[in-house]
Order: sequence, then C-alpha cells, then structure tokens
Amino acid sequence: MSSVSTSSLGNDHAPDRGAALCTVCGSATFTSRTVLWERLISEWQLSPNEIVYVNHQQGTSCTTCNSNLRSIALASAIQIITHSTCPLRDLVSLDVMQSLKILEINEAGNLSPYLRSLHGYTFGAYPEVDMHDMPFESNTFDIVIHSDTLEHVAHPVRALAECHRVLRPGGALCFTVPIIVGRMTRNRTGLPRSYHGNEQACPDDYLVHTEFGADIWTYPLQAGFKRIEMVAPVYPAAIALIARKEPAI
Ligand SMILES: [Zn+2]
Repeated sequence: MSSVSTSSLGNDHAPDRGAALCTVCGSATFTSRTVLWERLISEWQLSPNEIVYVNHQQGTSCTTCNSNLRSIALASAIQIITHSTCPLRDLVSLDVMQSLKILEINEAGNLSPYLRSLHGYTFGAYPEVDMHDMPFESNTFDIVIHSDTLEHVAHPVRALAECHRVLRPGGALCFTVPIIVGRMTRNRTGLPRSYHGNEQACPDDYLVHTEFGADIWTYPLQAGFKRIEMVAPVYPAAIALIARKEPAI
C-alpha cells in the first residue's frame, strides 16, 4: 500500500470531460492509493497502463462514503435499471427501490449499508450461498448484484445461469469483475495459483479462476441472458455490466 492522494474522478482516456460525482453519495472528492503488489502484477502479466487503471479501479475511493470505483460503477448500473439519476444513498428511500426484491451475493463493494435498508433485501454469502447452486426459488428477484466475485468461482457461466434462474422475468443482474480490456478472457487452470487479497486469510475465496477480458459480455449471453449493457463512469477503470432477463423492464 502506498501513494495516497486526493483527486477528482476523471476518465482515464478523456480527462477533459471533467470530474464525475460519486453515484453512491453524490460527493465529488476522492482519494487514490496503490493496491496492486508485484507478485499479482507478475501472475496477471499486467502492462504499465493496465497497472495504472487496475490501481485506479480498486484504489480510488470517495472521501465521504469510502466507495471505490467498482461500487460507483455498480451504483451507476442501479441508477440505469431504476431510471433514476439520484445517488444510491437517496435512491434507497424511494418507492422505486423499496418496491424491489434485491439479492446481494457476497458484499458488493461498499453498497451493502445502503441496500440493507430495503424491505425486499436478501443477502447471501459463500459458502452458505454457492453461486453454482443457490438456495433460492426461481423467478424471485428483481435485481441480483455481485461485485468482483465471478473471477473467484470455478464455473462462471453456471454461476451466471443461476443468477438468471433466480431473477424474475424482466429482472436485471448487475455486476463487476476486474476487466483487462485489451485482451481476451483467460482461465487460470494449469497456471500457478493466483490470489486477490490475503491468501492466508481465506484462500478459497481469493483464488482467481478466471481473468476476464474484452469478451466479458459473452459470459452472461452464454448463461441465457438476452440483453447486455455496459456502464463505465470511468473507462476502463470502472465498468459494470447489466444483464437483463427477458422480457426487458
Ligand atoms: Zn461517495
């Protein structure tokens, strides 16, 4: 961990577009720190430019609510799903959110404190809730949310198919994974084991099975979703996907 600084939330490839706001709380100030370490950089085979935007994705956070860019990307996705422009902090008190049944799988970045206030909120975490075979009825939820989890499951298409199964028709999955946009997805089977986070603390949770790339959008399509949207409040550091179950809402 190093190099903490205060910054605005620009676009990695178009800084002249100006600063963005935190879609979780509405704040406009952010801090940045370096989060990648040499071993992970080597295993992931990241280029200097990729190191910059992965550090930005995981290490830039709102000074007010502490959300990092992936939480901000997820909150942007929820705004789109609910046809709203207000920050998640305010959105959760409105009928448009309170009327929804929402499943959060593992802790989706920094959104949990806000999502927990919803009447129709359900939380499930590994190992009690395994994304390969979730203990929920089919056609139950309006929104399913997970963040930087799919790269740690052995069979990501099966996990996404489970998300599709538990969604109501017209429901939406929104999720993030670390995406290296200049390459295709790589399965790490047969490669040295690679971990995100502290492998001693929770090795199964942090083991990386899949390194996602520019073809990430094909995974929810393989799982049965019919419509995919990508939301990038900061490209390429902050990208969230929305996958809709037919019929579209
Ligand atoms: Zn914030």
